[in-house]
Amino acid sequence: MQDAEARRQIVEAGRRLRDRFFVASNDGNLSARVSDDRILITPTSVNKGDVTPEQVLTVDMQGKVVAGSLQPSSETKMHLAVYCARPDVQAIVHAHPPAATGFAACRIRLDQDVILPEVVFGLGKIGFAEYGTPTTDEIPNAVVKEIPDCEALLLSNHGALTVGPDVMQAYYRMEVLEMYARVRLVTRILGEPKPLSPQEVGELHKVRERQGWGRAKPNIEDLDPAALETIVQIVLKVLEARGITGGPYGESRAACRAAPFHEYGSARLLVEQVELNQEHCPQEEHRRQRPDEDADCQPHGDGLRCVGHVVTEGEHEAGEEPGDGLADLGRE
Ligand SMILES: [Zn+2]
Repeated sequence: MQDAEARRQIVEAGRRLRDRFFVASNDGNLSARVSDDRILITPTSVNKGDVTPEQVLTVDMQGKVVAGSLQPSSETKMHLAVYCARPDVQAIVHAHPPAATGFAACRIRLDQDVILPEVVFGLGKIGFAEYGTPTTDEIPNAVVKEIPDCEALLLSNHGALTVGPDVMQAYYRMEVLEMYARVRLVTRILGEPKPLSPQEVGELHKVRERQGWGRAKPNIEDLDPAALETIVQIVLKVLEARGITGGPYGESRAACRAAPFHEYGSARLLVEQVELNQEHCPQEEHRRQRPDEDADCQPHGDGLRCVGHVVTEGEHEAGEEPGDGLADLGRE
């Protein structure tokens, strides 16, 4: 987005958040991506209804303030994590709208028992991020797990977050989310809500995709087929190295072979499984048993590096630098 237009929309959306009591006091925060390495974000300790265009800060992708005299939002890390995970996202709105936040506080998901088509059209799936302590890495980590598949999510015991191609559209999604939470609340009071069937919900998702209301998905045809095949082999090799053959792991392997990463979600699933199994990494085992023999095998704690390590075993011998095969996969 253009800097001036992004500031104008942040001010306007902040005013609406305040007027509709989606935030109280200095709660909530808004941001917009204005270039590859710059975002605008609201200041902390200022009511979002009173923010002026000049008070909006410019920060880089490490969270360092580049322009602005106030302190940036204490949840800047959460915004940056979403921009890293979703290159298509241009704006983020975080607020505490009462009904949606009530569902988040009761840890009741809003993506089960769909009762209104408009919600599928407007939001797709509504995610649910596990609880994390505000201002720590816990919230960004929880949000990043969910955000690849949705435009709106509840933050457990905290509030809600929406994303969009510009600030106002992210804001409108917050309105849709809150209205839906209120309707769900009414149905709980009246009792006997009649949710749409999985088939009906599936049809709505198809309409959404046909109409182009969903976010742009990565076009698999645009990817380098050789690179894609390498990624597939990386994941399969890691799973094999861990002796993962049955159960959900086996199904993932089959899915991986049948439709390699046409579904972004399945790639994420595989990465998560690798992370879960990191303690069984044979390279790590090897290093522990014979530390003097293999100086190249350094201790490593995270699953992604572990993946690169195992995968590039053969390349090791050829004298090539081990690659971090899945590091980019997690970022789409
Ligand atoms: Zn908050």
